[in-house]
Order: sequence, then C-alpha cells, then structure tokens
Amino acid sequence: MTPSHPTVSSGRAPESGPVSAVRVGVIGAAGRMGKEVCHAVEQSPDLILAAALDIDDPLSRLSSAGVSVAVDFTTPEVVMSHVEFCLDSGIHMVIGTTGFSEERLGQVQTMLDRHPHIGVIIAPNFSFGAVLLMRYARQAAAFFESVEIIEMHHPDKLDAPSGTAQHTAQMISQARHEAHMGPPPDATVNAADGARGAMIDGVTVHSVRARGLVAHEEVLFGNPGEVFTLRHDSLDRSSFMPGVLLAVRSVESTPGLTLGLEPLLGH
Ligand code: NAD
Repeated sequence: MTPSHPTVSSGRAPESGPVSAVRVGVIGAAGRMGKEVCHAVEQSPDLILAAALDIDDPLSRLSSAGVSVAVDFTTPEVVMSHVEFCLDSGIHMVIGTTGFSEERLGQVQTMLDRHPHIGVIIAPNFSFGAVLLMRYARQAAAFFESVEIIEMHHPDKLDAPSGTAQHTAQMISQARHEAHMGPPPDATVNAADGARGAMIDGVTVHSVRARGLVAHEEVLFGNPGEVFTLRHDSLDRSSFMPGVLLAVRSVESTPGLTLGLEPLLGH
C-alpha cells in the first residue's frame, strides 16, 4: 500500500517519539476502519504508527518496522493468517475484524499456548457505548421474559448478524441460562422465510441494512405490561477509536486471549 500517512515507516525506529512509545502496525490500513486507526495512532503522543499495511503489502513489514502491537481491521478470510504471522513474530494483536467463531477462537488459543507471553485482544465492538449496552443487556436479561435484538448497519457490511449482535445474544443467553429461564415465548407457526430473524444461542436477532446507517443496536426486553429498550448508535467510526487505543495500550501487559473490551474497562 502507498499510505496517505507521511509518518509511516517501513524501516527502522523513527528519530522522534517517547522512549516508551508503542510501535503500532495497522493491517487493513486503507480500509474504512484502518484509516481511522492510523489517524488515531498518529494523534497519540505515546504511540508510533510504524507500519500501515493493506492487501498488497507483505506482513514481514511489521517485523522490519519493529512493530510490537498490530491492529487488524481486514476480513474474516485473511485474519487468521495474520494472527499466525504476528504470534510467530512475537507481535501482540488487537483485532476488530469479525468472524471469530468458537472454532476460530479455539485455534487462536492453541496458537497462544505456544506463545504465552503474547496478548491478543479480539473485540466485536470497540465503542464504549456498545460495550456498556452489552453489559446492561446481560444485567437485564434475567428480569424479562422476552428479548430480541435488532442490529442496523450500512449496506456495505459483508456479514450478518453483526459480531456485536452475536456477542450480545451470547451474553443474554448465558444470563438467561444461569437464571434457569426457558426460551422467550413465541407462538409463531407460519412465517415467511427470515421474518423472525436469525436464532443466535436462543435469542432472535434481526439485521437491517440501509444506506445512511453506520452501526446501531437495539435490545428489546419485554414483560407483561412493560417494554424495556436499550439502544446504542455509532454515528461515526471515530466512536471506535478510544476503545481501539485502550486495547493497544493494554495488550502488551495482558498476555493470552482477551475477548471484548469489557475486561479492560473495570467497573
Ligand atoms: P473495509 O473493507 O473498508 O477495509 C478492509 C481493508 O482490509 C481493505 O482496505 C482491504 O484491502 C484490506 N485487506 C483485505 N485483505 C487484506 C490482507 N490480506 N492484508 C492487508 N489488508 C487486507 O472494511 P471495514 O469497514 O474497515 O471493516 C473491517 C473489519 O472490521 C470487518 O470485519 C468489520 O466487520 C470489522 N469492524 C469491526 C468493528 C469493531 O468495533 N470491532 C467496527 C467496524 C468494523
């Protein structure tokens, strides 16, 4: 990639920057999220954007640039090979790319077992608001008979439901299971294909795709006589950056696999 970031270096350590500055490499740097990450890193005095890679760039540039933390916003098809390269090269990872099934997470864990000092943070959503929505949804889950999730995104998104919605469904499902709750009530016998959404861990998830949207999620809880709605709207990709930067600053001191931002937020 020929980055639009003049400070990007594919070579040795730059002359400026704090001694303890973290050298960051962005994979997927020409993408919508990658560009934002490059910008956010460049604006952070304690971080150095040491490498910005996109599809045509060899991953070896991460090592030659002395990158210690790689941030990956690419595609589910390629991200696993990036994990393999980074872990074998001793590079910590912050991953926003979606598509991490249980099977994939198991593969990452197996790779990490060979490199126990390395940290990998995989978060389906780096926005603090979305993380708090998930936290509150988990808290509310045991108090409501019904629950459905509606996620709404721009129409260029490749996967559905979103990783955030799947993660939310899993957290709600776990909370309901711990509270010994059965499935939400639903008398539907006849439904057009897809009308009732996708079933994720026993929770119905509806995916809306429309021009103008960015990333939005609603969790609708229901009981007799009351409806309780949690909603979060990411209106701009900059909303993800404080979470990405928190993960970048935390990952070197958080060895092993961390799922979601929640463990980094405290109470
Ligand atoms: P995008 O299509 O705009 O960008 C992806 C970039 O990856 C492209 O520039 C593409 O050329 C590049 N790429 C593809 N293969 C590559 C390879 N082998 N090496 C290097 N670069 C490669 O997509 P986007 O909107 O930036 O989203 C990227 C990913 O992040 C998606 O999986 C998306 O769902 C996810 N996402 C996560 C969050 C979060 O908070 N976790 C937020 C938004 C998007």
